[in-house]
Amino acid sequence: MRVLVTGGAGFIGSALVRHLVLDKGYEVLNVDALTYAGYLPSLRDVEGKANYRFLEANICDRDAMERAFAEFRPQRVMHLAAESHVDRSITGAADFVQTNVIGTFTLLEVARAFWAALDDEDKAAFRFLHVSTDEVYGSLGDDGLFTEETPYDPSSPYSASKASSDHLAKAWHRTYGFPVVVSNCSNNYGPYHFPEKLIPLTILNALAGEKLPVYGKGENVRDWLYVEDHARALDLIAEKGRTGETYNVGGRNERKNIDVVRRICEVLDRLAPSNRPREELIEFVTDRPGHDARYAIDASKLEDELGWRARENFDTGIEKTVQWYLDNEWWWQPLRERYAGQRLGLLKSAN
Ligand code: NAD
Repeated sequence: MRVLVTGGAGFIGSALVRHLVLDKGYEVLNVDALTYAGYLPSLRDVEGKANYRFLEANICDRDAMERAFAEFRPQRVMHLAAESHVDRSITGAADFVQTNVIGTFTLLEVARAFWAALDDEDKAAFRFLHVSTDEVYGSLGDDGLFTEETPYDPSSPYSASKASSDHLAKAWHRTYGFPVVVSNCSNNYGPYHFPEKLIPLTILNALAGEKLPVYGKGENVRDWLYVEDHARALDLIAEKGRTGETYNVGGRNERKNIDVVRRICEVLDRLAPSNRPREELIEFVTDRPGHDARYAIDASKLEDELGWRARENFDTGIEKTVQWYLDNEWWWQPLRERYAGQRLGLLKSAN
């Protein structure tokens, strides 16, 4: 199986590449532009493997994408490359429209032309998995869950650009019969998570004895999924998902942001004791504009139809994650140094 992965140097992409190369033994071509979020040390475990190749290229570059498809001849595409950080989208939406909308459009066009020229058997087996977020559905009240039928209602430039790309992907199926499957996932966490996001930022600030910024009163609810569970779900959806369909992915682990931060403090105090409880470092900061109140995913279609189950619940997953950051300073220290000046500015977000 030859799989072309875009965005494989990012957080979820690198977990997926490790899963496909090491656990599944697939041949993988990782296409990534290495923006600020692309970090090759996350791929240390697959580097040098005979079934892994890396191509530094931008998905908006049509010629480069055409060459990649012609040379690698993928049987599957798993498209994760994106600008992914909500706060960055508020201060600079242009990159989000460029990569998430124009980049996805370019990739769809190149992939469709490649697919159209395949023989019937290869054409029938080909899949394009478009990886997206539950943020396209907007915000929930106190009850209810996002299902695949929930109407799109994005709040931020990030989620609006992802919603646009989802619509393009689905239209390419309806209009051209191109074999697209879409997945919409809740917030991920786990090893190799870029230190600007809530969970790694909290772990690393707490370790350094720095303030732990929390938006508003920390009441916003997110549904957390361990990244390796997401990687397995993506592989399953690409393999067995029905074309033209959407599959929601979520861990049934809803938590208020403040409870996530408190839990990390408790785990750290136990695994790496300090003089004072880390909870004292919590600092409430002005809320993000357009901050969605609650996201929660109904993943029963994926569970019932494809037999997927999350292996980690939030308590086991967060323990593993904190331990990973304690054991892997080599990975995060250079990133902390690179972004030191911004730590309490831009980098104070809840995903
Ligand atoms: P990330 O920001 O960690 O990684 C994105 C990767 O894409 C980086 O390696 C970056 O270099 C690459 N990239 C960006 N622009 C590119 C371009 N123009 N051409 C080629 N490569 C480019 O993101 P992530 O958190 O791993 O998210 C991956 C995907 O999953 C995204 O599509 C995101 O919308 C989606 N998603 C993320 C979450 C989450 O909680 N992180 C949840 C649901 C869905």
